[in-house]
Amino acid sequence: MSPDVASPIRPAIRAMAGYTPGEQPRGGEFIKLNTNENPYPPSPRVFEAIRSALIGDRLRKYPDPLGTDFRRTAAKVLGVEPDMILIGNGSDDILTILTRAFVPEGGLIVSPTPSYVLYRTLAEIQGARFQTIPYTMPDWDVPSPWPVRGASLTFVANPNSPSGTMLSLETLERLASEVDGPLVIDEAYVDFADWNALPLLKKRRNVIITRSLSKSYSLAGIRFGFAIADAGVVRELEKVKDSYNCDVLSLAAATAALGDQEYLSQTVDRIRREKRALSDALVRRSFAVTPSQANFVWCRRSDRPVKPIYEALKESRILVRYMNYADYGDGLRITVGAPEEMQSLSERLDGILAR
Ligand SMILES: *Cc1c(COP(=O)(O)O)cnc(C)c1O
Repeated sequence: MSPDVASPIRPAIRAMAGYTPGEQPRGGEFIKLNTNENPYPPSPRVFEAIRSALIGDRLRKYPDPLGTDFRRTAAKVLGVEPDMILIGNGSDDILTILTRAFVPEGGLIVSPTPSYVLYRTLAEIQGARFQTIPYTMPDWDVPSPWPVRGASLTFVANPNSPSGTMLSLETLERLASEVDGPLVIDEAYVDFADWNALPLLKKRRNVIITRSLSKSYSLAGIRFGFAIADAGVVRELEKVKDSYNCDVLSLAAATAALGDQEYLSQTVDRIRREKRALSDALVRRSFAVTPSQANFVWCRRSDRPVKPIYEALKESRILVRYMNYADYGDGLRITVGAPEEMQSLSERLDGILAR
């Protein structure tokens, strides 16, 4: 782009690098363990729901802007009221809506680090400041008391990425009482975990929970996420979102997926089992593995650099995520895949580590 075309672009946008999502290779058979997709297909009810949505003239008309059926189903499953739910085109859309609604230009977004890199990108787009607070190591906890005042929004991924670790409910409740502004608890991976923050919604009105159907529900390609928050907050957020941010097919798919909790618990059980096997396999091969409550594990090693391991795996068509944080260091984040994928990974690692 020539400079004269670019010049009306806001300086905040020109100054930023932009978010880089994990690679989605085109063509070729890759074992994809880099973006935490689910190795199992979505519930059979999802396919049925999409098929029925294609019948008649539903595609010709706009979708329900508020996703009434989805909200009713999700509310029942979660034990909340339908008007506490906001639908989104992926939970990233929800995070964008929250940023637009709560953060003025020059405002402050805060997050513990290392964590989901998108939070910084959202601050940059908004022209807001971004402040990180390092997790306390080795247990990935947060400092007490929380050291930041004046945040417009505080993001905590729980379970966290890349670590897969979780803050306790007690810690989250304390955080919610200490932060200024809303505490957004990003629960993209919570269906794999031992607890979630839903009980806090009744106690702390500044708690906003975000959920995704991309990981536990095997619907990353559909783009659907939602927020659970105080009904008054949800009403305000509805003004900020695109009127039709979720389409007819994604609404049908998401409603069917939430409606099949038995299928969810079956796939989650399989992944949790396979995660234990993956962790053991990595420990046996001298990786330091962080105990994970998500569908991936974070592993590092002190005896050799991990980047060449990532590269060698990629050469043999196994993709994992190499992460390098300026304030922390690097490691590999490996998605829990199907048993045969985990087998291939172990075999490849043996070859690479023998070098
Ligand atoms: C994957 C992920 C999301 C985004 O989920 P989508 O619903 O696919 O947009 C949000 N937060 C974290 C921490 C994630 O890892």
